[in-house]
Amino acid sequence: MRIGAGLARGGTRRKAARHKQAVGILDGSRRGRMAGMLRRARRILLDAATVLSLVLCVATAALWVRSHQQGDRWARLQYVPRVGNYWQQVISHWGVVVWAAEEPQRRIYEEGGPGLGWHHLAWEAAPGNPVIPKLLWRPTRLEQWGFAYHRERQIELEALGDWPIVPHDVFAAPYWFIVTLFAVAPALAATRWSRGCKSRKRSRQGRCLACGYDLRGTPERCPECGATAPAAKFREPR
Ligand SMILES: [Zn+2]
Repeated sequence: MRIGAGLARGGTRRKAARHKQAVGILDGSRRGRMAGMLRRARRILLDAATVLSLVLCVATAALWVRSHQQGDRWARLQYVPRVGNYWQQVISHWGVVVWAAEEPQRRIYEEGGPGLGWHHLAWEAAPGNPVIPKLLWRPTRLEQWGFAYHRERQIELEALGDWPIVPHDVFAAPYWFIVTLFAVAPALAATRWSRGCKSRKRSRQGRCLACGYDLRGTPERCPECGATAPAAKFREPR
């Protein structure tokens, strides 16, 4: 066991020497500088994406809370010449977000009907509000959980009074799912950060970075887990 571990470490040392050589060749070369720049650029992009994800996570969580107080429909009526008009809309209601887009249809709205452009509609939220079921005509088991995807091809302009059935696509997802998705990257970053804090603290206290064992007696190598510098690095407290 010990011999095996020693051999493994010997192998690691040889590998480290080869690595040092390779780095030495690259050092100062254009390729080395490029690699460093790419690493930094990648780091910055990842950090920016993490911050964006955190902002979206908080914003979605706020909309989630709002969706239980008030239903919202943001809809845009657009017109395609000689084809007709169509709605694109996002509905937020009772923990679910729905996105729906219709195919353009020849529909005549009475005077005073909805004009082209954006429309916002709000209503008091309630679990039994019929807006969502009306948009999701064919309930499936997934829709109990707030998920839906439909590609409706049927046309029934008179079907539901103010809500005619026209060919459309519908996506729906529950807020908990979206908030969880946006929370993944910030949670990973927080874990990395707290690990960094832990190892800095261990380094200050003269403990093994790998296992936390007190190394003040044996600064070169951890007697508990066998880690050598830099894992077992011990800095004298100033
Ligand atoms: Zn250790």
